[in-house]
Amino acid sequence: MLRKNELLEIKEILVEMKREILQNLDERIKSNDMSEQREIGDIFDDADLEQSREFNLLLTTRERQKLDQIESALAKIEQGEYGYCEDCEESIPVGRLKVMPFATLCVKCKSERESLEGTPSVYIEEKG
Ligand SMILES: [Zn+2]
Repeated sequence: MLRKNELLEIKEILVEMKREILQNLDERIKSNDMSEQREIGDIFDDADLEQSREFNLLLTTRERQKLDQIESALAKIEQGEYGYCEDCEESIPVGRLKVMPFATLCVKCKSERESLEGTPSVYIEEKG
């Protein structure tokens, strides 16, 4: 179970990650100069922008995915559901969460999943 100050710390990490993505996007918008000198400076306060088409178009798939993970982690924090493994429902160690704030699995379940999903690519079944 996470203590309140640990939760806050992780929340800050997540918010900072989000800020970084938005800042990259901000710079991209400016360099593209596509939106008639809009006040992009307000990007962090402008919640509507996140819903806008322009915003989504400029995000790379990877950024989009990362933002989604950040958002769902933040939502879990708000709902008091943050920090539990999705598979076994054990609490995830805070040390792990600080390194991977949007981890949804404990180390054990994560490695179990990886061994299931991560079939070595060198192993190619020959069909005869
Ligand atoms: Zn687990």
